[in-house]
Amino acid sequence: MSTATRPRLACLIGWPAAHSRSPLIHHHWLRTLGVPGGYVIEAVPPDELQDFVFRLALRGFVGANVTIPHKERALALTNPDSRARAIGAANTLWFEDGELRSTNTDVEGFLNNLDASAPGWEEIEEALVLGAGGSARAVVFGLLERGIPRVQLVNRTHERAQALADQFGDKVRPAPWQSFTDLLPRAQLLVNTTSLGMRGQPPLELDVGRLPDRAVVAELVYVPLVTPLLASARTRGLRTADGLGMLLHQAVRGFELWFGRRPQVTPELRALVEGDLTSA
Ligand code: NAP
Repeated sequence: MSTATRPRLACLIGWPAAHSRSPLIHHHWLRTLGVPGGYVIEAVPPDELQDFVFRLALRGFVGANVTIPHKERALALTNPDSRARAIGAANTLWFEDGELRSTNTDVEGFLNNLDASAPGWEEIEEALVLGAGGSARAVVFGLLERGIPRVQLVNRTHERAQALADQFGDKVRPAPWQSFTDLLPRAQLLVNTTSLGMRGQPPLELDVGRLPDRAVVAELVYVPLVTPLLASARTRGLRTADGLGMLLHQAVRGFELWFGRRPQVTPELRALVEGDLTSA
C-alpha cells in the first residue's frame, strides 16, 4: 500500500493511560465519514516524551492529541501557533510542510460551542470568568480574540487571576473571589472554568437570579453533564453552553488536520458520548 492510500493513524499521548472520550469521538467520525484511519491511546512516561514526539511520524502517526501531564512540554517540542503559545500548553499536534506544529483547540472548542448554543452571544460589553487555571487561559484568549471589551476574572487564588490579567492586558480585570456576587448583575456572559460543580467537588454557590435577563451561562465541567449551575440557569430561562459541547467542538480541528475532512458535532455524536459519560 502506498503512503498516500495507507489508513492514517493519530493518537492521544498521556501518562498514565487515562480513560478518554477522544477515541469514541474520532472513531465515530471516521466511521460516519467513511475515512480509513484510526485513533489510539499511547501511554508515554515523561522521560520518553521527547523521543516519542520526535519519532511520531516514524511510528506511523499523522498527528496526536496531548493530555496531562504533557501539554506544557509539547509546546517546547513543537512549533506552536499563537493560541498554544499564549495559553502555554498544546493539546493537538500535526505535520505541516514536514514540520511538527501544535495548537490548543480548547479556544475554538469554547467559542464554537458558544456560537452553536447561543448565537449572537458576543454582542456584549462584559464577561465574567470564574477560575484562572489552564482552561481559563483558553477561555480568556478566545473572548479577547472575539473582541469582548471587558473580561472580569475572579479566582480563589487572586495571584493566579492577577498573573493571567498581566499577560493578557487591561481588558482583563482581576477581582477578588468574594466580589463575584457583586459582578453578576453586569455579567452578560458568565463562564465557569473552575472545577466546582464537578462530580466529587463542591457545587458552585452562585445565585443566577442576579444575572441580567439575557445573560448566557457557559460551563466547562461535563461530569455531570448538567451541573447545578446549568440546571439553575436553565430553570431561569437563560441560554447555556455546556462542557460536553466544548469537548466535542475542540476535537473537530484535530480530526480535520489529520484526516483531511471537517467533521460535524451532531446530536448522534452527543448522544454517543453522553451514553459513555453516564455509564462511567
Ligand atoms: P486547573 O488548571 O486545575 O484549574 C482549576 C481551577 O478551579 C482554578 O482556578 C482553581 O482555583 C479553581 N478551584 C478548584 N477548587 C476550587 C474551590 N474549592 N473553590 C474555588 N475555586 C476552585 O483546571 P482546568 O484544566 O482549568 O479545568 C477546570 C475544569 O474545566 C475541570 O472541571 C475540567 O474538567 C474542565 N475542562 C473542560 C473542558 C471541556 O472541553 N469541556 C476543557 C478543559 C477543562 P485556584 O487557582 O485557587 O486553585
